Amino acid sequence: MSDNDIFGQAIARLDEALEFADIDREAVARLRHPKQVLEVSIPVRMDNGDLQIFTGYRVRHDDTRGPTKGGIRYHPGVTLSEVKALAFWMTLKCAVAGIPYGGGKGGVTVNPKELSRLELERLTRGFTSQIADFIGPETDIPAPDVYTNAMVMGWLMDEYSKIHRKRSPGVVTGKPIPLGGSQGREDATGRGAYYCIKSLEAAEGWRPGDMTVAVQGFGNAGQHVARLLQEDGYKIVAVSDSKGGIHNCEGFDIPSLCTAKNETRVLRAVYCHGSVCELVDADVISNEELLELDVDILIPAALENQITGRNAGQIKAPYVFEVANGPTTSDADQILSQKGTTVVPDVLCNAGGVTVSYFEWVQNRGGFYWTVDEVHERLREIMVREFAEVWNFAKSRGTSPRTAAYALALGRIGDAVESQGTARYFAGN
Ligand code: GLU
Repeated sequence: MSDNDIFGQAIARLDEALEFADIDREAVARLRHPKQVLEVSIPVRMDNGDLQIFTGYRVRHDDTRGPTKGGIRYHPGVTLSEVKALAFWMTLKCAVAGIPYGGGKGGVTVNPKELSRLELERLTRGFTSQIADFIGPETDIPAPDVYTNAMVMGWLMDEYSKIHRKRSPGVVTGKPIPLGGSQGREDATGRGAYYCIKSLEAAEGWRPGDMTVAVQGFGNAGQHVARLLQEDGYKIVAVSDSKGGIHNCEGFDIPSLCTAKNETRVLRAVYCHGSVCELVDADVISNEELLELDVDILIPAALENQITGRNAGQIKAPYVFEVANGPTTSDADQILSQKGTTVVPDVLCNAGGVTVSYFEWVQNRGGFYWTVDEVHERLREIMVREFAEVWNFAKSRGTSPRTAAYALALGRIGDAVESQGTARYFAGN
């Protein structure tokens, strides 16, 4: 699929859900267009003295239900169409989670692995100053996404606060805890997905020890969901990062893999006792091979468009939990549904991150901070409740969980739009 089509393909999915959604056509027409799009160029003085110009975007898709909310990604593949699609998914995700936000997203086309830490800070401060009139605690609130982290969010908050001459922790979430971040934000995306898996475990009567899992993407979300599942007895038999993957039928010790990866930046099959790590048996596999493994649960936790019309026929896992945004294309959806694969969609499965972002924003506004147990419990309550809503809707209406999640989200957005009046209301005057 051409990159330019990502937004077009994303909104095409609205049509599949409309049949089941209680929403006025006018409201849907609005969702087909992002509300505001900003493209900026960011000049950065590199360590060697050269000036490099980077391109960045911030998109506010829809703010009917509240300020727009969504991460900022640093990746060489970032395009405007991708950022628009990601902002659209955020609109749906916030509605599925029932939190009072619309959808936004940002991105800079850059390979952050090629930048020094100082260059990364200059890039972040430069990007922040270019978008400083577009974002704000009541309008549009960024957060981490692919290849950005708490420190990047801390720089953003600091730069924004300097520009506006007042400390503004609520302008961004996913900040370091000493700068106003929330307990429990770091593992929130993985934990939210874990609560979804636990809900399905209860519904289907799985025994964790019998379940094998493959995780594509060993970044923040992938590492945490794998760790939580392993603690419960699930066998994580394969993981991968952008360079490739490892597979062992006996399962890996996830904390060991995390220690090694976070220290050396390389994914290696190891078992660590304290700080001493030794190699364990494993097959080296590609990212494509990982997706096609004969496992019970497949967790794409990397980038969009991984399960496509080309490889969907070869996916053997009966359950797919989308921790990444947009990992499955619509043609792949059709093939998976014919095979009877259950796909728990991104807009539900990875909503834990933005849900705890909402908690962080609430805490920043109140100036009163919660314990990690309070954060976990409130997150669990929302994920379990919304999983059940989506699941029951899908079962009662005979739709896929994705169509159910979209229909529920559209109903909630539709309620907000209609409460301001639509043609139906005004024609009645
Ligand atoms: N980037 C994350 C997502 O795609 C989190 C967004 C947020 O916390 O605002 O859901």
